[in-house]
Amino acid sequence: MPFTVAEHIRSIAPYVPGKPLEELEREYGIADSVKLASNENPLGPSPKAVAAIGEALGRLHRYPDGSAFALTRKLARRLQVGPEQIVLGNGSDEILGMLSRVLLGPGDEAVMPRPSFLMYEISVRSSGAVPVFVPLKDLAIDLDRVADAVGERTRVVFLCNPNNPTGSVIDQKRMSDFLSALPEGIVVVLDEAYIEFVRDPAAARGLALMDIGRPLVTLRTFSKAYGLAGLRVGYAVMPAELAQLLHRVRMPFNVSSLAQAGALAALDDQAFLNKTLRQVHKGIDDLFEALAERDIACFPTQANFFLIEVKKSADAVFEEMLKKGVIVRSMSAYGYPTYIRVNAGADEENRRLIHALEQVL
Ligand SMILES: *Cc1c(COP(=O)(O)O)cnc(C)c1O
Repeated sequence: MPFTVAEHIRSIAPYVPGKPLEELEREYGIADSVKLASNENPLGPSPKAVAAIGEALGRLHRYPDGSAFALTRKLARRLQVGPEQIVLGNGSDEILGMLSRVLLGPGDEAVMPRPSFLMYEISVRSSGAVPVFVPLKDLAIDLDRVADAVGERTRVVFLCNPNNPTGSVIDQKRMSDFLSALPEGIVVVLDEAYIEFVRDPAAARGLALMDIGRPLVTLRTFSKAYGLAGLRVGYAVMPAELAQLLHRVRMPFNVSSLAQAGALAALDDQAFLNKTLRQVHKGIDDLFEALAERDIACFPTQANFFLIEVKKSADAVFEEMLKKGVIVRSMSAYGYPTYIRVNAGADEENRRLIHALEQVL
């Protein structure tokens, strides 16, 4: 049955997510595998969030609070911004979509590093706009080249800090110089999905740059450090004028009542956040030590994941590792055909990763 679809939609390459654990186990006939491919929390979800979701179940016949009053207020107090500056999403992915719908139309340009998070490109193309890619330099975002790529038609710049998939960070001073030198009217989206894991005190933080006189959007998520990837809730802090426009295109009940309840409770679960950070930092340090002992090259990271250079086909390494019950991410789709990405897991998962890698390499 023929139907007509705009070319800018037809040309979108589908996002390839890490496959769910259950699906891979079924496909490969394995059990008891460990998944270190999607940067998920090795400790599971925040227990306080799980309890709060349980309590909210009895009210599922009600529509959610479309304004997410309580969660928005709590975030605003926590982040010391106004509630009118906050927009919540069904994952921060959804907020990327809203930003593209509001800010981009056919022919407009959005500058983004490559490789970086694949959803920037997809959301930009969905608006009929044109992604302009800036290659990384030494696996890090090169702000000079990003600035050079900004032109007459640029409306948005996407930056990912720490950058997925490399784990590199932008320095606060460099970031502030970049923003000050940017032509007026361009919105910078700073994706801080992994900011909680950052240990470098010099790393840029969007919330500290809100007063710089450029429209800045700081994007955060409950999916990683709070262990709530399956719940789908993220948020962004931006100038109130821009937030108002996002609310116009936002679906009225985009954050479910369970997501609101879970996120509210997670914000009060400082113990879980601390425990997560301790486990992830220990995991990263243990893995780096074990890889160095085996002369396997990996790249410094400020996130809960990092790149390993496998010096042969990453797709083949992915398959081999999978047969040993360890799920990693091949970076071939990101343009690094001999690199894999792994995230820090629980101690036992990390040991299994090293053991499997040793055998495969
Ligand atoms: C995981 C991730 C997100 C978070 O997406 P959600 O939709 O909030 O789960 C955003 N940006 C990057 C770079 C990520 O890796």
